[in-house]
Amino acid sequence: MQKEDCLFCKIARGEIPSQKVYEDDEVIAFKDIHPAAPVHLLIIPKQHYDSLAVMGKAEEPLLGKMLALAPVLAKEAGANNGFRVVINTGHDGGQEVNHIHVHVLGGPRPWTKL
Ligand code: 5GP
Ligand code: ZN
Repeated sequence: MQKEDCLFCKIARGEIPSQKVYEDDEVIAFKDIHPAAPVHLLIIPKQHYDSLAVMGKAEEPLLGKMLALAPVLAKEAGANNGFRVVINTGHDGGQEVNHIHVHVLGGPRPWTKL
């Protein structure tokens, strides 16, 4: 299920443009609008989940898919020498967009280590 007024649901529906780097029936990945590193991608499920905190056993395949995509997309984007994966979760976790997303950060450092 999607949420009408959610920014990332709108991106998943194509209502807000994004620089997509990957899409399948369950998942979409696109460039972060304010990159914090030379490579900064976001991987999201098309289905709406507020955050990692509401996901559990039933979402293991989806979470595994998103995680397994990270190295593939990082490499395609040119982060050949390593990358980081970050999932900010909830208010105290610094999450600003309340639709789960996996940050993939790579490219030559120095860039700010979160
Ligand atoms: P959070 O702080 O919730 O973990 O990360 C949200 C991320 O979404 C931020 O890095 C921010 O730059 C990115 N972002 C926010 N709005 C948009 C948008 O409209 N398009 C894209 N591509 N990224 C966005
Ligand atoms: Zn959403």
